[in-house]
Parts: sequence; C-alpha cells; structure tokens
Amino acid sequence: MKDANFLKENNARHMWHPMAHPADSLANPPDIIVEGQGVEIVDVDGHRTVDAVGGLWNVNLGYSCQPVKDAIAAQLDRLPYYSTFRGTSNDAVIELSWMLRDFFGPDGMARAFFTSGGGDSVEIALRLARQYHKVRGEAGRVKYLSLKKGYHGTHTLGASVNGNANFRTQYEPLMPGCYHIPAPYTYRNPFNETDPERLAQLCLAALEDEIRFQGAETIAAFIMEPVLGAGGVIPPHESFMPGVREICDRYGILLVADEVITGFGRTGDWSGSRHWGVQPDMMCTAKAITNGYFPFGAVMVSDAVAEVFEADESGRGAIGSGYTYSGHPVGAAAAIACLKETQAQVVKDNAAARGAQLFAGLEKLKAKYDVIGDVRGGHGLMCALELVSDREAKTPIDKGTIGQVHRVAYEHGAMVRVSGPNVILSPPLVLEAGHVETILSALDEGFAAVS
Ligand code: PMP
Repeated sequence: MKDANFLKENNARHMWHPMAHPADSLANPPDIIVEGQGVEIVDVDGHRTVDAVGGLWNVNLGYSCQPVKDAIAAQLDRLPYYSTFRGTSNDAVIELSWMLRDFFGPDGMARAFFTSGGGDSVEIALRLARQYHKVRGEAGRVKYLSLKKGYHGTHTLGASVNGNANFRTQYEPLMPGCYHIPAPYTYRNPFNETDPERLAQLCLAALEDEIRFQGAETIAAFIMEPVLGAGGVIPPHESFMPGVREICDRYGILLVADEVITGFGRTGDWSGSRHWGVQPDMMCTAKAITNGYFPFGAVMVSDAVAEVFEADESGRGAIGSGYTYSGHPVGAAAAIACLKETQAQVVKDNAAARGAQLFAGLEKLKAKYDVIGDVRGGHGLMCALELVSDREAKTPIDKGTIGQVHRVAYEHGAMVRVSGPNVILSPPLVLEAGHVETILSALDEGFAAVS
C-alpha cells in the first residue's frame, strides 16, 4: 500500500468523487479507509471508529464475514464470469434465484432480474413497468409518479423520479412524464401538518389528485422507498404504504418498492414492504444483497406481473434490457453467502433491538442539545438527526457546524454521515449494544463541541 502522505496528496488528483465538487475534494482530503474489521473501520492514520454508516447503508454483516469472502474466492477460482444473456447461464445465479424465491416468497416475488447495483435496479424496474402495460395492451401508460425527498439513484430514469433537486438540476432536462407528490415528512411539509397519520392521508389525497389530473390511463408506476433513506430517513405513518397500495390497485398502476436500503433486514423486517404489510408489484434491491463485497442487485417481480410476461405470445414480452454483469456468478456467489449469513444470524431481529436502543439514545441527545431539531427512526437501524440553528424557526444548520459535529464524532470513535442538514446513521446490522453506546457518546461529544 502507498504511504499516507501519497494517498492524501493524490486522492483527488486523478479521481473525481461522486457527490462532491472536484475542487472541494482537492482542498479537503477525505477520510481514507484502509481496513475494516467487524463493525469497525481503520483510516490511513491508524484511527479506528465504529462505522455508523455501514459503508453506504450496505455492509449489514460487517467487514469480516469470512463465508462471504470464501464464497467469492471459490467462485473466482472455478468460474469468474459467464453471462446470462439469452442462450447461456451459470450455476451460481440459478441457485441464487432459487434462494431469493424463498426469501421473498412472503412478498409474493418469485422472479429476479439481476443488475449491478441500485441505480440499475431502479432503471430496470421502471422499464419493466412500461413494458408490462404494453404487453397487456395499455401502451399509453408511460408516466411515473414518485415522492419528493425520494432517492432512486442517478441513472437518468432514477434521477427523473428522484425528489431532491441536488441530483436533478445539473442534468435537466430529465425524462418527461415524471411527477412528484409531497412526502409524508412530518417535520416539514407543505400542509403544515404535524400529525403523522393525518399527514399520510393528505399525501395519499395528493397522490390520487395527481393520478386524476394526469389520467390514470397514462401512468405506468408509482415508485417509493418504504422508508425514505437518503432524503433524511423519513418513515411514513403505518397507514401510508398500504394506502398507496390501495390507490395503485384502484387505478391499475404498478407499485415499485425501492428496497435498495430497506431490503434484507434494515427496518427490522426482511423487507420494508413487509414491514408495512404491503405486497408491491416489483422490488428494487441491491446494497445488502452482497453487503458491498461485490457490486450486485436484483429486481424482484411479483408472480402476477411475471405471468403477464411469461404468457405473452405477441413477442412484446421479450426483455430488451440487461447488463454484461446481469447474473454475474461472483456476485451471485457473494449473494448466496450473504443470504445464508443474513438468515442464520437473523440480522433483522438485531436491527430491531439495536435500532430501538439507538433511537432512544438519540431522543435523549435531542433533549440535551437545541441544535437537534428532529430525530427520526424507530424502524430498525436507520436513523437521522435533522440539525437546526434555531429550533423555533427550524432554520437549517450551516455546513460548517454540521461538519464539525461529524469531525468531532469521528475523533471520538464513530463515523457518521452528513447529508445536507441531516446526520444519518445506518450501521451494520450485526453491531452490539456497546457499539451503539460508542456512537451515542461520540455524537454527544460532537454536539457538545458546537453548543
Ligand atoms: N435507491 C435507493 C433507495 C438508494 O438508497 C440508492 C443508493 N443509496 C439507490 C437506489 C442507488 O443505488 P446505487 O448507488 O447502487 O446505484
């Protein structure tokens, strides 16, 4: 490995970071991580912290999952690559699809279309939604609806349904035919509604209003995260997603659940949809399917949707989408091992228990520090703190102050993620009670430093 000075000096010289200004990356070297063990990471200066970000919401099993590493090595040795394009397949991906059938069985999903990550999964699901309607003879259903504050990756279709201007404006014009409705975000919403249940009803009414305005016969799908993640961990009221399901059914619109974060245990259930008791028509997964050990994803398709494609005799059901790495055998081997470990360790139950501990601790921090305007979470291991400079006026915090919270927390043993005015926490699902205490005390130090 190159030495620390070389790495810091050259980090951004020949590489552009995603979601960063190149000049900022040059001026401010990031934390360069060189090692991961369990739920901890070590930077190039030897500083060790609990990874309260869990990589990027994906390293659910931590960094030392030997069965996954062994499975990857064995697959690389035996067959490092073979395609699943028409005419060929590989054994690993067939075994994986069989396992996913069982895993997502309760969600009514027994077909998988494999991808290389979350953005790919969103792209595929939205394309398949249009195609589904074409196969059924409703070619006019081409539009997409989604939530403001939603995040669906940065492919052009995903960016078009994204509900955050930061990922849109530089790349406009995006796809026509994408419309956004207000998110059930209790802390700030256009209705000034502070009751989560009433707010859910208002957002559902807005969805229905938009459907009527556009004409249901023009809409292919509604895409949503069961718990909004990158938008600042915004869990809706429990009535929201079932309400969306009911409206989509009534108007013949497909419901696509973007489970890239919420799939595989993060909410305390095996899927975010199941958490709310909903069966979507498609599910976008990625991230924890391979825990970050290999880039991989899967779109799960409901039996009812799959049967429309499979029964098609017109030829319109032929899938004209796919990637060189769809069904990559090494990714499939990693996913098989991750699924086995995920289930054997019942990580969803630990997510629920440690998530409750973390959420309670964050509420205590809010009582102590005025800079914390809102604490969100309470559904497994995804939480956010929204920071304000004035609690009454809910003035968003400045970049410098939240940056200092991040820095001091890091110095005191926890890597947290800053996204706009939010501190986001999505640690590995295998973390222990002591790690939660470390995260909370590091944040306590961070807030003390700015208060
Ligand atoms: N959907 C959601 C809900 C996500 O959180 C993300 C990534 N954070 C994506 C899609 C995009 O995934 P990827 O970065 O793997 O393309």
